[in-house]
Amino acid sequence: MLNIRIERNPNPKAKPEAGKPLPFGQIFTDHMFVMNYTEGKGWYDPRVVPYGPITLDPSAMVFHYGQEMFEGLKAYRGENGEAYLFRPDMNAKRANNSNRRLCIPYLPEEDFVQAVKAVVDIDRDWIPSDEGTSLYIRPFIIATDEFLGVAPSHNYLFLVILSPSGAYYKNGLEPVGIWIEDEYVRAVRGGMGFAKTGGNYACSLAAQEKAHEDGYSQVLWLDGVERKYIEEVGAMNIFFKIDGKVVTPMLNGSILPGITRDSVLTYCRKKGVPCEERRISVDELIEAQKNGKLEEVFGSGTAAVISPVGKLRYKDEVFTIGDGGIGPFSKSLYDFITGVQTGKVADEFGWRVKV
Ligand SMILES: *Cc1c(COP(=O)(O)O)cnc(C)c1O
Repeated sequence: MLNIRIERNPNPKAKPEAGKPLPFGQIFTDHMFVMNYTEGKGWYDPRVVPYGPITLDPSAMVFHYGQEMFEGLKAYRGENGEAYLFRPDMNAKRANNSNRRLCIPYLPEEDFVQAVKAVVDIDRDWIPSDEGTSLYIRPFIIATDEFLGVAPSHNYLFLVILSPSGAYYKNGLEPVGIWIEDEYVRAVRGGMGFAKTGGNYACSLAAQEKAHEDGYSQVLWLDGVERKYIEEVGAMNIFFKIDGKVVTPMLNGSILPGITRDSVLTYCRKKGVPCEERRISVDELIEAQKNGKLEEVFGSGTAAVISPVGKLRYKDEVFTIGDGGIGPFSKSLYDFITGVQTGKVADEFGWRVKV
C-alpha cells in the first residue's frame, strides 16, 4: 500500500462542456500522480499534485536513449455517474513486462493500480459523460539520471496523467482503410515490440506518414524478417474472420499483447466462437479474400476498442472487405466490450473495476 500524499490544485480549470466535441489527448485534468525512484532506496514519495510542467536536466537519460515505458487505459462513466476502470491489473502486469525489457525497476502491480485509482478519484468529475467519451489515463516511467553514458539509469519518475477524450468515432462505429506496409518494419523478435515504449512509436512514424498521404488511417505491419506474416496495426492488434473462424496473429515477441485483444479472445472462447492464434501470411489473407472467405477484419485497442477495417491496400492492390461496412461480429464485440466498460452489460468476466 502506498501512502499517497495529496496536494490539491488551488486553481482548478474549467472542464470541457458536455455536448461539445472533445479532441484526443489535448486537454489535461487538474492533478497528476508522481513518484520517484532511486537505486538502493526504491520507489518513494508517492503524491497527487497539481498538473503542470516538470523540470529535468537537459542531460536526463530519457531524452537521449529513450529509456521509458508507458501504459494506456481509460476511466468510463457509468449510467449513475460511477467511475469504472477496465482490467487495470492487466496494465500493471504489462507495465512490468515493459520495465523488464527496458531495465526499468519493477513497480509493484498493486501500487500501479492504486496510483491510477488515486488520481482518477480526485479528478473523477473530469470523466466526460457523452456517449463514447472517456478519461484517457497515461501512466509512464522515465529515466532521469543526468548522464550521457549508455547504461540503465539509477533514478526514475513514475507519472500518471489524465486526459478527457472524445468518442473515437464521431458518427458511431466507422470502417477504416489500412495500408499493409512492405518496406518499413516496426519490430523484430528479440527487440522490444512486446513492450509499450516510445521507441516503437518513433520508428513507426515514417510509414504512418506514407499511409496518411495516401488516405489510409493506419499501417498494418508485417514481420521484420520475411515481411510476409501479419503482426499488428499501428496501435491496435488485428483480427480476421475467415470462413467462420476468428484468427489473430499469435504473440511472438514482436507483437504488443493488447488487453483488448485478450478480451476478444476470452469472449470468443466463452461464447463458443471458433478462434485461433497463429501465424497468418499476407498471401493467405489475399487468397481468402479472393475466394470470398475473408468475412471481417477489425483492429482491437483501448482507443477505439474495436475498429472495423473496410479496405486493405497491399502493394498496388486495394481490397474491399465484405461490403466495406461494419461486420456483424465486429459490431457485437464492440457493443459487448463497451457495454462492460460503462456498466450497461453484465460483467461476466470480472473486468470492471469501480473507483
Ligand atoms: C497499446 C497497443 C496495442 C493495444 O493494446 P490495448 O491494451 O488493447 O490497448 C496494440 N498495439 C500496440 C503497438 C500498442 O502500443
